[in-house]
Amino acid sequence: MAVMPHTRIVKPPTERAPLPHLADHATTCATFSWATARALLDGLPDGAGLNIAYEAVDRHVQHGRGDRVALRWTGKGGQRRDLSYDDLARETSRFAHGLQALGVQPGERVFVLMGRLPELYVAVLGAFKARCVVTPLFSAFGPEPIATRCEMGDARVLVTTPELYLRKVQGLRTRLPGLTHVMLVGEVPEALAGEPGLHRWTDVMDGQPHAFTIGPTDPESMALLHFTSGTTGRPKGVIHAHAAVLAHMVTGRYALDLHEDDVFWCTADPGWVTGTSYGIIAPLCNGVTNVVVEAEFDAQTWYEVLERERVTVWYTAPTAIRMMMKLGAEALQGRDLSALRFMASVGEPLNPEGVLWGLQAFGLPFHDNWWQTETGGIMIANYAAMDINPGSMGKPLPGIAAAIVHRTEAGVQVVEAPDEEGELALKAPWPSMMRGYLHEDERYRKCFVDGWYLTGDLARRDAEGYYWFVGRADDVIKSAGHLIGPFEVESALMEHPAVAEAGVIGKPDPTVGEVVKAFVALKPGFEPGEALRRELLGHARKRLGAAVAPKEIDFRANLPKTRSGKIMRRLLKARELGLPEGDLSTLESDEK
Ligand code: AMP
Repeated sequence: MAVMPHTRIVKPPTERAPLPHLADHATTCATFSWATARALLDGLPDGAGLNIAYEAVDRHVQHGRGDRVALRWTGKGGQRRDLSYDDLARETSRFAHGLQALGVQPGERVFVLMGRLPELYVAVLGAFKARCVVTPLFSAFGPEPIATRCEMGDARVLVTTPELYLRKVQGLRTRLPGLTHVMLVGEVPEALAGEPGLHRWTDVMDGQPHAFTIGPTDPESMALLHFTSGTTGRPKGVIHAHAAVLAHMVTGRYALDLHEDDVFWCTADPGWVTGTSYGIIAPLCNGVTNVVVEAEFDAQTWYEVLERERVTVWYTAPTAIRMMMKLGAEALQGRDLSALRFMASVGEPLNPEGVLWGLQAFGLPFHDNWWQTETGGIMIANYAAMDINPGSMGKPLPGIAAAIVHRTEAGVQVVEAPDEEGELALKAPWPSMMRGYLHEDERYRKCFVDGWYLTGDLARRDAEGYYWFVGRADDVIKSAGHLIGPFEVESALMEHPAVAEAGVIGKPDPTVGEVVKAFVALKPGFEPGEALRRELLGHARKRLGAAVAPKEIDFRANLPKTRSGKIMRRLLKARELGLPEGDLSTLESDEK
């Protein structure tokens, strides 16, 4: 049942583009090996291993390209700041020294919680230099997700702003005894002076030497700890090693077609994996100018950035594309976007209309690609030189073997026939594959069967080898490209004295993909009503932050549960959407 509602976009040779790195997908796939690709990286001097920061920053200086702009930053108020690769090498070295001066050891965890300020990029790369493990947190998280992640990840250092600290972190300090250092970027109010473990960013950096020799770095040592949401329990801490940098380098070249003179803009926030892998590491490894915009989405601001910075390669997300579509292509009139030559999208399904709208509005299609926190880098993509079937995620990267599989008692059964739905699986390993779930070996092991990594996504592959996303195999919610664990939301709701039970689902939404919707059963003595609904929405927002909190709450007398007492989110969703209720054999009690 091949669904091809839109004609394929055939790529003519275009005058705007340089020759794509991946000119012929099939040939490169046939000859590619990760071992050979390693030559794209330098490695630490004297064979001292592989460190992300060295590949992303220092080696460009070694190669005489230090004066090239590495970060081109625009602040919320329109302020501009350029950091060359020389500047970035110096600032990250100072930060690495600053960490050492505080006694922070390799392997210890440095969390960053702030908007897209230049210091965030310096902190992440400087921490890699000091061989610390970096965990980015999304600045729109509320106190509860921040506390959970800092606790689980043993945060030793937190880099944040005074404003975020006061609003979200100060009240958590007693829960986080291991958090010994908090560095504040920006003006620190008097009231905070003298609070134990608080440091001004400028104090950490002042007087530190401008060069730092990165210590021997085992490529397999932990570099990044990214939290991602599951359907049960606490979030999962996904471990990535320094070796992942090879995948960042290669996917930057092949999937995003980065060339050294490109001006690249990834609109994702580094609080999520795309903003780290492709908002920091991949572009810098590839030596491009990386545009960073502090302001949140606004179509006109974005068009202005594309024009002013003469962005050549743009990596964005379906929610933003749909929001721009709503405004219409007319909003682009009068803009000179002639520098733009390649546009890509990730994070959620990109409707065929979105791909085609790119052509209409920008004269270029959006190239959808697929990956997830666990894969560390892009795995399936539409490439610059390849025809696009709108609605398809494209084909696997060179070095990546993908398949559609069924889980069976005996193991994994690979589907050979085209167009059959199954679970998307990837042959392990590859350099940016997760190295574990923090403190959860069993959960990690269960992701791998017969040498395949099982992604939890349902997909199909057509006769030509293009992959098509079908849906997720679990209850995780994708809202505006962000993964949200229903359990985390349910737990926050349950903290409210009126709530007896909560079940949380993703409700389809034409713009953001899914919105978080909660169903709540109240304790005796509480009556459903508008005032309580508003109170619960406010409570969840305060605890979880706007990005995670439910947008809708409905009251129910009871929630449907399995015999073992688990709330059946699947059934809540089917009823909400008027879909068939499916297999009800495990249903114990019902809401009706
Ligand atoms: P995250 O780990 O937050 O990056 O989320 C990964 C998940 O986002 C995947 O497992 C998919 O469910 C979804 N996803 C990412 N990219 C795409 C895409 N191009 N099309 C459809 N779903 C996607």
